[in-house]
Amino acid sequence: MTYKKHISQSNDLLDRFSSAFAGIKSHSNLPSGTTPFIWAIAVLIVVIFSAFYFNVRANNETILRTNLMKSTAKVADNIEMRMRGISANMARMIEKMELDGINSAVVNKYGREIISSSPEVILLRVIEPSGKGLESVVNPRLGRSDLRQYNYLDYPQVVRDAIGDAFLSNRVSYSSFWFTPGDISSPSVVIIYPFAIGEKTYALLARLSLNKLLEVSTPQSLLSDYEFSFLHGTKEIAGRAAYNPPDDYTIPSYVRAADPLPPSIQLYGCNVLESPMIFASPLIYWLGALMLFLLLSLFFLNREMRRNQSDLERALKELELRRSIEDSMNLALVITDLDNKIVYTNGQTEEITGYSEEELLGKTPPYPFWGDSSELPSQLLKDRPHEEPGKPYRFDLTIRCRNDETLEALMLAMPFYSAYNEHIGWIYMIQDNTVEAQSMNLTNDSIASYERLLNSVLSCISAVMQKPTGSMLGIHNNHYTEQLGNTADGHLEISKAFKEPFDPQGNRQGEVWVDSLGRWFSVAEARVTLPGGSHVTLQSALDITKRKINEQEFEEQTSKMENSSRLITLGEMASTITHEINQPLTAITAYANTALEVIDRAPEVNKTQVLEIYRKIANQAARIDKIIKNIRAFAKRRPTTLECVSLNSVFSDTMELGRLIEKKYAGVHVVYELPAVVPDVICDPVQIMQILMNLIRNAAEAILEHGSKDKTITVSAKVGAKDVELSVGDHGPGISDTMKASLFTPFFSTKKNGLGLGLSTCQTIAESHNSRLRVRDNEGGGTVFFFDLKICFTKDSENKKQN
Ligand code: ADP
Repeated sequence: MTYKKHISQSNDLLDRFSSAFAGIKSHSNLPSGTTPFIWAIAVLIVVIFSAFYFNVRANNETILRTNLMKSTAKVADNIEMRMRGISANMARMIEKMELDGINSAVVNKYGREIISSSPEVILLRVIEPSGKGLESVVNPRLGRSDLRQYNYLDYPQVVRDAIGDAFLSNRVSYSSFWFTPGDISSPSVVIIYPFAIGEKTYALLARLSLNKLLEVSTPQSLLSDYEFSFLHGTKEIAGRAAYNPPDDYTIPSYVRAADPLPPSIQLYGCNVLESPMIFASPLIYWLGALMLFLLLSLFFLNREMRRNQSDLERALKELELRRSIEDSMNLALVITDLDNKIVYTNGQTEEITGYSEEELLGKTPPYPFWGDSSELPSQLLKDRPHEEPGKPYRFDLTIRCRNDETLEALMLAMPFYSAYNEHIGWIYMIQDNTVEAQSMNLTNDSIASYERLLNSVLSCISAVMQKPTGSMLGIHNNHYTEQLGNTADGHLEISKAFKEPFDPQGNRQGEVWVDSLGRWFSVAEARVTLPGGSHVTLQSALDITKRKINEQEFEEQTSKMENSSRLITLGEMASTITHEINQPLTAITAYANTALEVIDRAPEVNKTQVLEIYRKIANQAARIDKIIKNIRAFAKRRPTTLECVSLNSVFSDTMELGRLIEKKYAGVHVVYELPAVVPDVICDPVQIMQILMNLIRNAAEAILEHGSKDKTITVSAKVGAKDVELSVGDHGPGISDTMKASLFTPFFSTKKNGLGLGLSTCQTIAESHNSRLRVRDNEGGGTVFFFDLKICFTKDSENKKQN
C-alpha cells in the first residue's frame, strides 16, 4: 500500500523533472544577456554604412558638378563661337556692299547665305542711323515678310539702345533681349554692325532667336544628361531648364556668363535627373541591402534571445518552486545523467546522508553514500529499458552517512525521461528505513489524520524529531506556521524557555516567557523516545502574552486599590480610635491638671519633681489629642464640591490664615504675587485653602528648621490660556531627588513629630481638581510646590471680564 503511494508520487516527480529539464535544455543553446552587445553591433553597422554612403555621395556630387560645369562651358563656348561666326559673315557682307553698293541683290545673296548657315538668325537688315530699314532678308523658316519696313521708333528700347551705341562707338554692338508678343522666335537679341560708304554711315542688323541659338549651340550628346536655359536674373527666358537655386542639392545647377551676349543674359545648366547623386553607385545599393539584412538578422536574433531568457527565467523559477516542494518531502531525491553523474539532489538528501548538494553534484559512482554491496540500479535497468516506463525498481540499500554511520534505506530507482520521452538520466528516491525514521513517519502519519482537527485549535501544535544530525520539523498546524514559521526553530525556542524538566512520563507544562520571541506561551509538551534513542517532542503552545499583560496591569491596579483602601481603613479606624480614647483622654488631662493644682498647694511634696512628671503627662495627652485630631480631619475629608468661584476671595481668606502662621513661626514672611485681574476658577475653595495653608506651614517649618536667612514664602498665581498655576515657594533647605520620589506617599515625614499626611492629602485634593501637585527646585535654592486650577469660562464670567 505504502509503496503504491510512492510509485504514484514518483510518476508525478518524473513528469515535473523531465519538463523542467527539457525546458532548460532546449533554451540553453543561445547565450543570454547579450542584448546590449547586439544593439552595439547594429549601431556600428549603421554608422559604418552612413559614413560610407556620405563619402560616396560627396564624391559623386563633386564629379557631377564638375561635369555640369564643363558641359555648360561647352555650350557657352559654342554660343560665343556661333555669334562671332555670324559677326564675321556680316563683315564679309558689309565688304561686298562697300564695293557694290547697298542693293537688294547683294543683300539677298549674302543674307541668305548667313541665314542658311546660322538658322538662329531670323532677319538681316541694312539700316540708316535713323533706324530706317533699306534692305532686309528674312529667315524663310518664319514665313514672314512684314518685317521689311521699320522706323527707328518701331524698334524696342533695347534695340534702339544697341543701334545708338553702335553708331556712336562705330563698333559692333549686341542688344539685350526682348519679347515680341505672338512671335515664335521670341525672345530675340540683335547684333548691330556699323559701316560707312563714302560719307554716309549705315549698319547691318542681325536679329537672333535666343531659343534657336541655344538649340544649335547645345551638342546632342549632352541632351540626355543636361538641360540649358538663358536666364534673366533667376527667370528663364529661353531654353528648357527650369531654374533651380544652386543651394538646392536635389538637382545640381550651374550659372555662367554667355559672352558676347550682354551680362543681363546668363547661361544656366542643370542635370536632367532629380537627385542623381543618391545611390549613384551600385555599390551603395548592395551595401544598403547588406546593412538591412544584417539589421534584420540582429533584430530577430535579439528577439529570440529575449524570449529564451524569459523562458529560462520562468523555468528556473518553476524549478525553484519545485525544489522547495521536493525539499519538504520525506524522500531523498538524487538524479543522474546517462553517465551516472549526479545532476540534482533535494534537501532531504542531506538530511538522510549528511552530504550537501555541492558535495554530491558532478559525482560519478561509487557515490560516497552508496553501500558497498549494492550495484547501481541503472546497470540493472539498462537491460530492460522501456519495459514498463515509470515503474520504479525497488531494493534495500545501506547508506553510508557522512559521519560514517550507516543506516538502512529503501531505494526506488527508475530511468528519467524528458518531456519528449527521451531517456536522459536516472532518478533515485531514498527513504530512511531505520526504525526511528519509520516511527517518525508513523507519528507523522497518525498526526496527519488529525491535521484538520489540529488546525482548528488556537495553539501552535508541532512535532519535532531530534536526531544527531539536527532537528527536523514534522507535523505542525497552520497556527504554528503563521506564528513561528516553517522551521523547528520556534518549537525549540519555546522548549528552551522551560525551566522544569520532563516528568518520568515524558510530559511537562507551564507558562513560559520566550525571550527571543518576546512573548508568553502556555505550553504543554510530550516527549516520546524512539527505539534508536532519538526523541520526538509534541508541543502545544498558546500565545498568552495579552493575558499576561492584562494580569500584570490587574496586579498593579490591585496594589493601588490596596493602598487607597488602607487609607479608607485608616479613616474608619481614626473615628473609632477617637471615639474610644477621647473620653479617657479628657479625664487624664483633667486629673493631671487637678493633681497639679493639689500638689502645688501642699508644701511638703517635692514640687519640682512632681510638677515635671505631671507636665509630661499633660504634654503627652495633648500630643495624643493632636494626633487624633489630625487623623480625624484626614478621615473625615468631605467630598469635593467643585464650583465657579472668585480666586480673589480664596486668596483673601488664605491671607488671614497666613498672618496666623507668620505669628506662630516668628520671622517668616508670606508674600503674595498676584496679577491685577484674577479669573474665576473651578474649585472647592475650602480645599484649595487647605492645600495653600499646608504648603505655607510646611515651608515655614522648613525655613525655621534649616535656619535660612531668607525667610520669605511666596504665594503666586500665574494665569495661562486655560488654567491658573498656583504655587508656594520658599528658600529653605530644598528637597533631594530621592526624597521627591516618596514625598507624596502617605506617612512620609522627616520631622520628629510629623505625621506625613499633609502632602498626600494635598495631592488627593489636587487630583480631585483634575490636576497634580508637583514640586520643583526654587531659583536660588529652596522648593516650589505648584498645581493648576481650570479657569471657569461661564457666560457669567465672560460678562464679568467684559465689564
Ligand atoms: P509632615 O509635614 O507631617 O512631615 P508632609 O506630608 O506635609 O508631612 O511633608 C512630608 C515631608 O516633606 C516633610 O517631612 C518634609 O521633610 C518634606 N517637606 C514638605 N515641605 C517641604 C518644604 N517646603 N521644604 C523642604 N521639605 C519639605
